Amino acid sequence: MCGILGVYAKHEDVSRIAFFGLFSLQHRGQEGAGITVSDGKKIQTIRGLGLVTSVFNEEKIDSLKGYIAIGHTRYSTTGNNIVENVQPFTIHSQKGDFVVAHNGNIVNSDVLYASLKKKSALYSSSDTGVMAEIIHQAPGSSWEKKIINAFPLFQGAFSIVALTNHALFAFRDSHGFRPLVLGKLNDGYIISSETAALDVIGAVYERDIKPGEIIHIDEKGLHSTIVKHADKKSLCLFEYVYLSRPDSVLNNELIHQVRQRSGELLSYEAPVAADLVVAIPDSGTSAAIGYSKASGIPFGEALIKNRYIGRTFIQPEQRLREMGVTIKFNPLRKIVNKKRLIIVDDSIVRGITIKKIIQMLRHYGAKKIHVRICSPPIKHCCFFGIDTPDPKQLIASTMNEKQIKKFIGADSLKYLSLSGLIKAVRQKKRVLCSACFNGVYPVPVNTDFKKNILEPCS
Ligand code: AMP
Repeated sequence: MCGILGVYAKHEDVSRIAFFGLFSLQHRGQEGAGITVSDGKKIQTIRGLGLVTSVFNEEKIDSLKGYIAIGHTRYSTTGNNIVENVQPFTIHSQKGDFVVAHNGNIVNSDVLYASLKKKSALYSSSDTGVMAEIIHQAPGSSWEKKIINAFPLFQGAFSIVALTNHALFAFRDSHGFRPLVLGKLNDGYIISSETAALDVIGAVYERDIKPGEIIHIDEKGLHSTIVKHADKKSLCLFEYVYLSRPDSVLNNELIHQVRQRSGELLSYEAPVAADLVVAIPDSGTSAAIGYSKASGIPFGEALIKNRYIGRTFIQPEQRLREMGVTIKFNPLRKIVNKKRLIIVDDSIVRGITIKKIIQMLRHYGAKKIHVRICSPPIKHCCFFGIDTPDPKQLIASTMNEKQIKKFIGADSLKYLSLSGLIKAVRQKKRVLCSACFNGVYPVPVNTDFKKNILEPCS
C-alpha cells in the first residue's frame, strides 16, 4: 500500500496541498507520514510515526516553504515500523539532495543491497532506502539519467515520487502494479496514488502515469520518457477490491461501481433467502448495495462503525488488530434481533474481523448469518506491496471453505469467483495481477521473503 503525492506549483502553498492530499490518502498507510518541500535552494523534511494529523500541525505545515513537495503515508512491507523507515528519504550528494517516496515493494532489495558499493550511506531498513542509494550510485550526469539507468535493476512494484532542488520526478514500474496518476492544478502539476486526492485538492485529472514511464517536471515544464515497456501489465486486482478509495477512478472505472458490480455478480453466483443485506462498513458497503439491488433483499445498516479508529488490519500487531475489531464495530441490536442476515465484506484475510462480528451479531439475536465475500479466497502472499508475507496467517491457505465457515461461525459462506471479480473490474485478465488469489506471480519471487530482510540483525 502506502500513499504518495507530489506537487510542483510555483504559485501555491505546496506544503498545505501536500498535507490535504496525504490526508485523503491516509487509508493507504497509517504507520507514518512525511512531507518534503524544496524552495529551489533549501530542502526541508518533516516526518514521524503515526497518522498525518498527528505528525503535522499548523506550525509545521507553515514552516515548510517552497514550490515543490512530495509526501508519503506509510504501510510497511519491507522494514519494520520505526521512525528511520518513515518516508520521504533523503540522499545527500554533491549534486544536491535527492528525496524519494515509494509505494509498492521490490522483490530484489536484498540482492541490490549486496551490490551497493557504499552501504554505510543507508540509514533505513526498507527497500526504498536501497532503491534511493542504487539511483544515487548509478551512472549519469543528472538525477534523471541516474533514474533511467537504475530503473531496469528494480524488480517488482514501485510507484515513486522524488524531488531535487529544482525538479519533481514520478515513475512507475513497467508492470504498473500500483496506481499513479497525474493531475493539473492551475499552472502546476500534482502526482498522486489515487484520483480521490486530486478531487480533494481541486486538481483536474489528466492521465495515468504509464507503466515504465518517468516524468520529470521543472521550470521548462513536463517531459516524459518511457524507459521500459512492460512485457505484461499487472495492475493489482486487490486495489479494486479493497485498497483504493471507492471515490477513486482506476483505469477509467469508478471503484465504487466496480464493487457494486462485484456484489451484484455474487448475488447471482450465491443467492440465499434472508431479511436484510448488511455491509461491514466501509469496505463492504458498495458491494452490499450491489448484492441488495440484484437480489431484491433490502439493504440496511446493522453495524455502526467508530469513524475515529483507523483500519484495524493495518495495525502490524495481531493483538492490537483483534482488540480493534470490537472497538470499531457495534451492532444495532434491535435491527439484527431475530433476523436472517446476509453480511457482505470485500475480503477475508486472517478471518479475525468476520469471526468477531458474527459473535457480536449472534449475541444480539441474529437468527441466521450468511457471509458473502466479494473477492475469491486469498490463498497466496503478496510480494508487491501488501503486508501478508506469512502464508500461515492467511486462513484460506490452510482451510477450505467449509472449514472457514465453521471457524467463523457462519450459517453459510460464499466467495465471488475470480472470473466474476474480473468481470466486475471490466479489465482484461492478462493486464491484472491476481497472484493473491491464484498464486500466479507476474515477476519471479522468493517465497522465503521476510519483511525484516534488511534489518541489521536479520
Ligand atoms: P481479517 O480479520 O484479517 O480477515 O481482515 C479482513 C478485513 O481486513 C476485511 O474487512 C478487509 O476489509 C480488510 N483488509 C483486507 N485486506 C487488507 C489489507 N491489505 N490491509 C488492510 N486491511 C485489509
